[in-house]
Parts: sequence; structure tokens; C-alpha cells
Amino acid sequence: MLKDLQGKTILRNDPERFVGRVALVVGAGSGIGKATALAFGRQGASVALVGRRVPELEAVARQIAETGGTAMVASADVTQERAVEKMIAAVVEEFGRLDIAFNNAGITAYKPIEDLTADDVDQVLATNVKGVWFLAKHEVAQMRKQGHGGSIVNTSSVAATGGNVNLSIYAASKGALDAMVRALALEIGRDGIRINNVSPGVIDTPMTSVLPPEVVAAIGAHAALGRIGQPDDIAGAVTWLSSPEAAFVTGQSILVDGGYNIGGMR
Ligand code: NAD
Repeated sequence: MLKDLQGKTILRNDPERFVGRVALVVGAGSGIGKATALAFGRQGASVALVGRRVPELEAVARQIAETGGTAMVASADVTQERAVEKMIAAVVEEFGRLDIAFNNAGITAYKPIEDLTADDVDQVLATNVKGVWFLAKHEVAQMRKQGHGGSIVNTSSVAATGGNVNLSIYAASKGALDAMVRALALEIGRDGIRINNVSPGVIDTPMTSVLPPEVVAAIGAHAALGRIGQPDDIAGAVTWLSSPEAAFVTGQSILVDGGYNIGGMR
């Protein structure tokens, strides 16, 4: 990644890029969602911060406001369809429209198959598949009503395209999203609505903090770029996918993994 003369990573910071656009970011209180919400805020969008933990979301809202941006908090548990519907209505009431959605809520269950329970399976599928589907359903309805298109990005995973031990149900949930965007892109493309997935490799977030350090080090060493990812690496891909620069990209799952997968999965 490009660094400035002080050695800090150079992040795109075009304050005009999303001016007049409303971006909804789910799971915005931590990790990839937080980095992406801050990136949208820096680049002029009005940002709706969605999740279950209001104090974390409020802290992100304050950070956006401190840099001159605009943000609101809209709490919702994405496994509840009515909560998703009400949350989108609240965003539209506050900001007047919805142009961009980043459906990034997700949970994992890192266990060998004999330790995974039916409850683990229900929870992972309820959040990662049904929750993202609820979000997409109500976002599409709102974008169609507005009539000026939009962009939806979901968070899939490198786990959907390769194989990782102890991630069987998580991999299945993300594979479902890869199939879903292809079908949905065909359904909504004529309305000017694009839908894609970003598929991160291993990223340094609360979700991966449960991994043993030697596993994380080995994953980094296996990647072409020689490191695991940072949340800003994914924020850059999501903001690009959500921008007019990606106007001809839809139905895709874009791998952002520092070249981990090309070396063969583990
Ligand atoms: P994270 O745990 O910080 O983020 C997950 C977010 O989802 C949290 O903010 C959490 O509150 C929210 N969430 C979970 N269940 C929810 C629900 N029912 N309703 C509303 N919000 C809910 O970890 P992260 O790594 O930033 O994860 C973000 C996404 O990236 C997830 O979908 C994850 O599967 C995916 N992902 C992460 C990695 C990685 O290595 N970190 C790799 C590939 C994909």
C-alpha cells in the first residue's frame, strides 16, 4: 500500500466523492464496518450506522461528526425482519433517501464439525444469510420506490471460494451470499441497482481475535503480500464498489485477500 513520507498509509480522502448520497453501513460499530463507515463519512456521504450495540455506534457517529461529516445511529438486529424494515424507514425519514448499503453483519462459529451444534448453525445462517437477505429485500424496495438506482454490497468471505478447517457452516453461509448476488443482480439491474459482494481474506478485527497468533502469522506469511489485511483494506474496496467508478460491476464477489487464495487455500 502507498505510504506518505511519514510512513502512514495514504487513504483516499475525496470529500466530494459521495456528497448528496446516503450510505447505510451494517455492523458499523467495529472492524470492517466501522472502517467503511468512517471512509464514507470522510468522503461526504450521510452515513447511517446500523447494529445492535448503540454505545459503539454512537462513538463512530461522534468520530464522523468531529471530521465534519454527518451520521445517525439506527439500531437493528438483522435477524428480525420487522426491525430491518423499521430501521430502513428511520434512515429514510432522517436522511430522505437511501443510495448505498453495505450489509456487513456477520458472525462465525470456529469449531470442528463434531463440536458444532444445531444452535450454532441456526445462528450463523440467521445472521449471515437470512439477515443479509432481509436487508437486501427492504433496501431494494426503497431504492425501487426512489427510482434512481443504487448500490448494495454484502460481506462474503475468502472462506466461500476455498476451504478452511473449522469453518464449515460459516463457509456455507458465505457461499450462499455468492449465489444470491448473481440471482439478485439479474432481478434488479434494470432498475439501475447494482449488488456485489466483497470477499475479505483474514482481516485484523474482533472476529479474528479468537484465532491463535501463530495461525494468524501463518496466514499472513502465506499471502502474496506477506501480511493479513486491515479493515481499511476492505473499506477501500467497498467504497469503490459503491461509487460511480464501479458503474458496470454487478453480480460479483470480489476477493480482497492480499493474494492469499492464489497460493492455494488451507
Ligand atoms: P466484527 O465482529 O467486528 O463485525 C461484525 C459486525 O456485525 C459487528 O459489528 C456485529 O455487531 C455485527 N452483527 C453481528 N450480528 C448482528 C445482528 N444480528 N444484527 C446486527 N448486527 C450484527 O468482525 P469483522 O471482521 O469486521 O466482520 C465484518 C464482516 O466481515 C462479517 O460479515 C464477517 O463474516 C466478514 N469477514 C471477516 C473476515 C475477517 O477476517 N475479519 C474475513 C472474511 C469475512
